[in-house]
Amino acid sequence: MDTVSAPAYPKLTLCIDGRFLAGDGRPEQDVTNPATGEVNGRLPHATREDLDHALAAAERAFQSWKKSSPVERSKVLRRAAELFRERAPEMARGITLDMGKPYAEAMAEVMGGAEHCEWHAEECRRIYGRVIPPRVDGVRQLVLREPIGVCAAFTPWNFPFNQAIRKVVAAIGAGCTLVLKGPEDAPSAVVILAQVFADAGLPAGCLNIVWGVPAEVSDYLIRSPIVRKISFTGSVPVGKQLAALAGSLMKRCTMELGGHSPAIVFEDADVDRAAELLANMKYRNAGQVCVSPSRMFVHEQAYDRFVETFAAVASSLKVGNGLDKDTRMGPLAHQRRLPTMESFVEDADRRGGKVLVGGSRIEGAGQFFAPTVITDVPDDSRLMTQEPFGPIAPIVRFRDFDEVVQRANSLPYGLASYAFTRSSRNATAISNAIEAGMVNINHFGIALSETPFGGVKDSGYGSEGGAETFDGYLVTKFVTQLN
Ligand code: NAD
Repeated sequence: MDTVSAPAYPKLTLCIDGRFLAGDGRPEQDVTNPATGEVNGRLPHATREDLDHALAAAERAFQSWKKSSPVERSKVLRRAAELFRERAPEMARGITLDMGKPYAEAMAEVMGGAEHCEWHAEECRRIYGRVIPPRVDGVRQLVLREPIGVCAAFTPWNFPFNQAIRKVVAAIGAGCTLVLKGPEDAPSAVVILAQVFADAGLPAGCLNIVWGVPAEVSDYLIRSPIVRKISFTGSVPVGKQLAALAGSLMKRCTMELGGHSPAIVFEDADVDRAAELLANMKYRNAGQVCVSPSRMFVHEQAYDRFVETFAAVASSLKVGNGLDKDTRMGPLAHQRRLPTMESFVEDADRRGGKVLVGGSRIEGAGQFFAPTVITDVPDDSRLMTQEPFGPIAPIVRFRDFDEVVQRANSLPYGLASYAFTRSSRNATAISNAIEAGMVNINHFGIALSETPFGGVKDSGYGSEGGAETFDGYLVTKFVTQLN
């Protein structure tokens, strides 16, 4: 096996008030490699005192960081972007060891995150208020935009670096401070993220990293009167729970939750291109992507050709350890997802679906599930109604525009969507009709730093990236002054 070698796996720590804290008697958990079952490292959990300490540090740091100039914030973010690029091999290897994705995908994640950091360095210099002409001479009316305060952020394991950096740069760029609980099952990139910001000159206390039992830590942080804003990326049920608690305390939220993205292929599309692109997108990160195309609706005239090409890509993917350079798809990050994948397949099979490719776990060490293609599965099956978050692709037929729109919009999710057509009339009509926060027509073009990323309906609210990126981290203050 031709494997990737790089610096050693980092020592796992908390980061509180600028200090990197190891176990020292704290409870710890193993972090294991899903491709081999080997232990990568031991992660310390924050005690109650640690959480109080982190909150107090964030509150204290906010008093000065909120007064920092955009130029100063920009310098820190720009320097951090450079350091992420320097440490990319170490970070990428850690991501692969922690959650299994192929090393090349992990590298792309780190480089994309560095770019995101750099873009926020530029954009934070353009947080402006406005002047409103008065009704009465001598009055001056100003709209000021101020940082909201201390933020609590909770980020998941599927893009351990990318999901965390998105929240950190928006908060820090806006002049906020934060306490971030990263993914306990994939922590190494978040530990390095904290080291990089310390090295880039971010003052102690502005960014605090904690670990623990997710429900306990989130409950404690959200209830703290110090915390003014919550940002979460993860599943819909957990997002609703956290938003309900935050709502009862009148705290602002950004919620980036799950999706079950429709991909609609019209009869006039370049069918082979659509099938190749969607199959490659679908199995990226073993399908553990919130914007993964996960319900393929194909016009009946294009169906057979699409299925053939899509199945050929799925069958050709080399599945294995993400550190092996040939690997195109790694393991599932969690053991518990293997029976979930099996139950999706069983349900589809029972309801008349045809398993064309894969359909089962791959025996041996590691948590591998074969890239799977299932056709002719009914719309009310589990696979067509619940987010699979794994390497299973359902492909179904449709006849006309109104029918496919109704079926695509029938679920409570509304994150990403995809359509393929050569007709500009179809393209405009589908982008108007689809209930989603993001629409890709004839390509994949979302999740760029300069474009807003976010969902509607149960997929959440608030945008990360784009000109909207700081909105969730700022409050509006109106000043009227008679001289
Ligand atoms: P899960 O619901 O158990 O956990 C999802 C994430 O939320 C994890 O990172 C977990 O540590 C965290 N979490 C769980 N309970 C929490 C709590 N009370 N407070 C704070 N954080 C909490 O699901 P899972 O099995 O880890 O992942 C599968 C599901 O998660 C998928 O169906 C998918 O919708 C969702 N997910 C979405 C994204 C995304 O990018 N939107 C990322 C990861 C997972």
